[in-house]
Amino acid sequence: MESNCGFFGRFGGKYVAEVLRRPLDELETAFKYYMNDKEFLDELEIIRRDYIGRETPLYYAPTATKLLGGAQIYIKLEGLANTGAHKINNAIGQCLLAKKMGKTRIIAETGAGQHGLATAAACAKLGLECIVYMGEVDVRRQQPNVAAMELYGAKVVPVKSGSRTLKDAVNEAMRDWAANFENTHYVLGSALGPAPFPDIVRTFQSVIGNEVKKQCAERGIKIGAMVACVGGGSNAIGFFSPFIDEKSPRLIGAEAGGIGKEIGENASRMTGNASREGIMQGYKSRFLLDEDGQALPTRSISAGLDYCGIGPQLAELGMSGRVEFTSILDKEALEAVSFFAKNEGILFAMESAHAGACAMKIAKELPKDEAVIINMSGRGDKDIFITSPVFRPEEWKEFLKAELERLEEKKDIHEAKVLGEK
Ligand SMILES: *Cc1c(COP(=O)(O)O)cnc(C)c1O
Repeated sequence: MESNCGFFGRFGGKYVAEVLRRPLDELETAFKYYMNDKEFLDELEIIRRDYIGRETPLYYAPTATKLLGGAQIYIKLEGLANTGAHKINNAIGQCLLAKKMGKTRIIAETGAGQHGLATAAACAKLGLECIVYMGEVDVRRQQPNVAAMELYGAKVVPVKSGSRTLKDAVNEAMRDWAANFENTHYVLGSALGPAPFPDIVRTFQSVIGNEVKKQCAERGIKIGAMVACVGGGSNAIGFFSPFIDEKSPRLIGAEAGGIGKEIGENASRMTGNASREGIMQGYKSRFLLDEDGQALPTRSISAGLDYCGIGPQLAELGMSGRVEFTSILDKEALEAVSFFAKNEGILFAMESAHAGACAMKIAKELPKDEAVIINMSGRGDKDIFITSPVFRPEEWKEFLKAELERLEEKKDIHEAKVLGEK
């Protein structure tokens, strides 16, 4: 299961400048040590239970099952984890590890802001300083998450280089780490990057799959297929992890199909037209690249699925055929959001809705005595700014206009200040 010297088949590795070798080696040694340390594991277990709220439920979806007319539909409710998504599993694990290593300062990169938010919360909980690098363009687009990170006490640093998005934030975080690793740990947000990050992130996220395995055994559920959305791949690899070495169930990754198959219209790293093998940001994997090896623009309605690369272990599992990949269009993901909200009272995050949409397509391929398990990686509250303009555009415009007018009058702000000063 673990990588072989940082490689999964021919993907993975540690393609970094000399200055990053030491912090990566130090991290690998500490990770191996603490994953066998009872005190560390006990502490992690208690934080998972009392702070994250684990285990998360495995929910049987009776109406969806009836309407789809095939396999039994189950949903793993990762969205009920504190902070609203699976990312906290990794953030807490790495921050606790960093604390044991004697680090006092945490840095992270973030694109949509979800990983930054989880890391900021984990740092607040564990008493660590937190700095989040975020492309300037993303800072502007993702204000609700920036506001939340600041509430948790993190410092958000806008990155002004390159395209001023996630890729540039990663470069900036690497630079900071190389200069400050004596007291600093870099919490990488998905199951990618140079070794040992893919192993570390999968290990902390495998709590999802381990719980599913136990929950299914206890309830006598026969799993036919497991479906997860794939950005960098952390929720998928954690969910699939305990089943990879077995022949069944089917493991299916849903990528962002965006608005179409053309270059720039999607983020399909395994199923897309521009999918190529390459080396970027410290690891070898499959990326969306042009002929000169430059990252291509991507597109998805879900901010968490539009990275141009995929974790090396999933790339390998995709090439070997153990994990199947499929592309889900923006519009299919939106339909899945409505379907599960109306029929089950469960609001999927846009990312997770890609897995939901995939389950809706394949349910009929499986017999009624088998289950399709969907990993709902996050809940959809955060997406109200994306779903509202689609489902109720006029009302939403009115709302935003009214909000702006209210702010310009400055009445409420003034009142809040006065109250705050008391
Ligand atoms: C970030 C995010 C993803 C994508 O990241 P992975 O590393 O592929 O899991 C998926 N779902 C949610 C809710 C996210 O916040």
